[in-house]
Amino acid sequence: MIDWPAHRSYLASLPFPKRVNVIKMIHNWQFTKSHIMLFQESDSFVCPMGCGMEETALHHLACPNIPGSDLRSINRWMSHNGTAPPVQLAIISSLKAWITAEPIPNFFGNHLDTLECLLTSLAHSEQSILGWTQAFKGRLSKKWTAAQGLWYDHMQDNHPSPKKFPKTYTGPISMKELVAQLIYYNCNRWQIRWRIHNEAALTSDSAEE
Ligand SMILES: [Zn+2]
Repeated sequence: MIDWPAHRSYLASLPFPKRVNVIKMIHNWQFTKSHIMLFQESDSFVCPMGCGMEETALHHLACPNIPGSDLRSINRWMSHNGTAPPVQLAIISSLKAWITAEPIPNFFGNHLDTLECLLTSLAHSEQSILGWTQAFKGRLSKKWTAAQGLWYDHMQDNHPSPKKFPKTYTGPISMKELVAQLIYYNCNRWQIRWRIHNEAALTSDSAEE
């Protein structure tokens, strides 16, 4: 069900140290407060960003106190890369719902009569089974690749000069890039949390001296 080729080719494209960090993130091995609790007694496992919530492995994806908790960058990337409108709508609205702890919207599409919409609806159901959390780890349903590939085929058919159609507009390439966007969002937010927390810890250490 998961598009492993997209996942693997993204990982393989990373330089080694970065790949290690990404793999840690995918397996929830980053050093959260509740993770520290597993090994030693710590005063709390409350999120160090001060949002008042428990810091679980994927809390940083949704923490309201980490700036930029919107999916604008991913949405913008999708718009600039000819993403099929139903695919974009289904993915962005579901990720938004996941982040804000709202129920994942049902996706029926406006026109189930087109094959892209039908495939998108199947992809959405399959991703809901796999879990939307998994999407932030770059584990996407293979059916997205099929829906997006079909959309590019139509774009190419209607292109004024099909020979000039972008070579990167294929289902597999666009899914590999989407995996990169999603994992970047995940790791980038973790890095922001890590930096702000460490800077705060350094300041309080020097204040105690
Ligand atoms: Zn938080």
